[in-house]
Order: sequence, then structure tokens, then C-alpha cells
Amino acid sequence: MPKINLGTLYVVSTPIGNLQDITKRALDCLKTVDYILCEDTRITNRLLLKYNIQSKLISYNEKNEHNRISKVIDDLNNNFNIALVSDAGTPCISDPGYRLVSHIKKNNLDFNVLPLPGPSAALSALSVSGLPSDSFYFVGFLPKKKGRQKKINQIKEIDSSIILYEAPYRINKTLSDLYSYLGDRKIFIAREMTKMYEQHFYGTIKSMIDQNIHINPKGEYVIIIAKEGYLVE
Ligand code: SAM
Repeated sequence: MPKINLGTLYVVSTPIGNLQDITKRALDCLKTVDYILCEDTRITNRLLLKYNIQSKLISYNEKNEHNRISKVIDDLNNNFNIALVSDAGTPCISDPGYRLVSHIKKNNLDFNVLPLPGPSAALSALSVSGLPSDSFYFVGFLPKKKGRQKKINQIKEIDSSIILYEAPYRINKTLSDLYSYLGDRKIFIAREMTKMYEQHFYGTIKSMIDQNIHINPKGEYVIIIAKEGYLVE
């Protein structure tokens, strides 16, 4: 039960491409809060313009989050209601916000921190992957250099479907690294979900490499990898 007379931080999920994918609650919240913390004001402005929302935007991203936290805490102390959004999907999930929420929890600050659930690329992709969804392991982005091989070796041992985020210009390298360290496995790749050029690929890592799916250098990708042994199921 939210506590009254205390500032509230709303962690608000926003669309991952199609601006219609936003809940009524999220829109009401974004309209009525004292201000919105957002990763990139230009991107969140597009959403606000579409829904005629005039709330003030304050940038909150990886670069400035250390400095912003004390202001946000002061404002919550003054009973402000604040929404936190990222460029797309659910804040804190491979996106800024975790440090703020963690600061509130670690310091036992008595504000409400409430989720306004909605889209997340990871669960959207898993839901249409056809790969086992009863148990999954979310990796987010693989390390680019240091620790990359170690992480992929850890993934090898995981007895669940594995979810990776990937940038378009790295999909080729990631598929070949996965093939080198994991061998061939069933995978599903979702590109540009909810957008005009949405594409889904289902097959094995080797078949994806052979299809050259990476030749399109644009778009955003989620990769779901089946656990070892799923090929023969
Ligand atoms: N917090 C976000 C969420 O909950 O989905 C994820 C943010 S992370 C910085 C961005 C990554 O999510 C992209 O690089 C891509 O891997 C994935 N992603 C976001 N939108 C996507 C979409 N429409 N289609 C496919 N992948 C997407």
C-alpha cells in the first residue's frame, strides 16, 4: 500500500518503438507528476507531443545520474511526485535508474518507489520466441571486450533460455562468438519489434550466420538462446 504524504518515484515503462504501446496509467502519471526524469529529452518529447503532455523534462542518464540523485532525493523529501522513464522500455533494465532506486533502498529512505509496468524488449522477444519461457536468464548486453569470453562461458552452463540485447553493428560478431563458444544451438532473434521493419528469425546460430542476417546495419536486436541440448528435444 503506497504511503501517503510522501514523495513518490514512479518507474514508468514506455514504448519500445510503437508509440501506441503505452498504458493509460502511464499517460495519467506522466501528465500529473511534478517532473519527468528522462534519458534523452528529445526522445521523450516525441511521446509527450503525441499525447499532449506538458510536464517538465529533466535529463537523467548514465553521465549525470551521480549528480542528479541528491536533487531527486531533496525533491522527494519535499513530497514531489517524479516519473522516471528511459528512451524505450522499462527503466533500470539495461537502462539508467538502477542507481537512484538502489540509493533509496540502501539508505532506507521512506519514499514510495512504484512500477508502472509496460513494454520491455526482453520479455516481448521471449514471448514470441517459441523457446522455453518457463525459466530464463537475462544477460543484457555482453561485455564488448574485457570479460566477454568469460561471460559467454558462464552462459554455456545456464540451464534456461538466455536473453541478450545487441546493437546492430555488433550482431555479426556476437553470433560468431556465440557459435565459437557455445557451438550450434537453437536461437531466436527479434529485430525492430513493434516498428515498421520488424523481423523475426528462428533457427540455429549457424543458420543465422549463413543467412547473413546482420547485413542490415540498422535496427535493434534481442537474441534468445536455447539451453544446451534443446536442439534435440
Ligand atoms: N530498458 C529497455 C527495455 O526494457 O527493453 C532496454 C534498453 S537497452 C539500452 C536497448 C536494447 O534493447 C537495444 O539495444 C536492443 O537490444 C533492445 N531493444 C529495444 N527496443 C527494441 C526493439 N524495438 N526491437 C528489438 N530490440 C529492442
